[in-house]
Amino acid sequence: MDYAARREELWRRARERGLDAFLVINVEHSDGANLRYLTGFSGSTGGLIVGAQPLFVTDSRYTEQAGHEVVGLPIEETKPRWMAWLADKLGSLGVKRVGIGAHRTSVYVFQELARLAPGIEFVPQMGMVEDLRRVKAEEEIERIAAAAKLTDEGLRWIVDRLAPGQTERDVALDLEVWFRRHGAEAVAFDLIVASGPGSAMPHYRPGERKIERGDLVLFDIGAQVDGYCADLTRVVAMGDPGGEAREIYRIVLAANRAGLAAVRAGKSGKDVDRAARDVIANAGYDDRFGHGLGHGVGLEVHEAPGVGPTSEDTLAVGNVVTIEPGIYFPGRFGIRIEDLVAVTADGARVLSSFPKDELIVC
Ligand code: ZN
Ligand code: ZN
Repeated sequence: MDYAARREELWRRARERGLDAFLVINVEHSDGANLRYLTGFSGSTGGLIVGAQPLFVTDSRYTEQAGHEVVGLPIEETKPRWMAWLADKLGSLGVKRVGIGAHRTSVYVFQELARLAPGIEFVPQMGMVEDLRRVKAEEEIERIAAAAKLTDEGLRWIVDRLAPGQTERDVALDLEVWFRRHGAEAVAFDLIVASGPGSAMPHYRPGERKIERGDLVLFDIGAQVDGYCADLTRVVAMGDPGGEAREIYRIVLAANRAGLAAVRAGKSGKDVDRAARDVIANAGYDDRFGHGLGHGVGLEVHEAPGVGPTSEDTLAVGNVVTIEPGIYFPGRFGIRIEDLVAVTADGARVLSSFPKDELIVC
């Protein structure tokens, strides 16, 4: 990973905006993905000054780890009153206008720094690092592909042993342990295992419900490998689910395929969304598909660009997004089919490979 090139590009953009420096502050994971993207540092707390005199800072818990992970930057250890220390440090650098990420810096940190360094103007910046992260380098796409492959394999493992009487919570926990045992650094998000009526809730929390014969079971899962996330949704049936579920499955699958077919550089997030949404609307279920079609995935499971009816984004080579149409009947069942896809120079590369051609009956 060429962290130095990323910092150089951020510094170029910061100068364009009339800034003397740009500050990334990660306090207990508040901005971990941006800091990791720019430095490789994976700890919970640290900071980066991008500018004429770049500097990585962290506290004594992480000095040794930073020495291994952070290459090509001086590293300094903050004192216990780290905001006062940082304000002094910025003062000694002689910077006057300092950009600071608006999305991930707390109002408290922002106001304290402004109070402690009255000679410095801190200027909130929208999405500067996040914009860089949209376009993935080949080595980032390979890490996402590795996370997607592990996610596919984990789903295969858990589906093969799925049985009536298992609770959603146990199934989710077994799968999480499997991911970690097979190379995941973490799960990309709280795994969703939703059975029966729970499958109608897009962000369900697995609970004590026991899987029953005749249920649909929705898995929305992802492993995180070397920092990068995967995101996959499949629905399987525990025994014969009946004709209605099979029909809805076919419609959602057609929408998923229409969405994937629409993915290419230059297409707007709105247009890709519409390609899939039209399939569901033409089948008469437009009021059953409430969420956007997809989202970017990378160091975080939800990042830019967005793929939805209100998206302002245009797809570019190197973007990685999900395509996840769904149809939901509250209190009864829901079906969603989600794949990860990378935008390439000659079209798109689907990174998810778990079978979806027909509803799998366990
Ligand atoms: Zn998902
Ligand atoms: Zn998703």
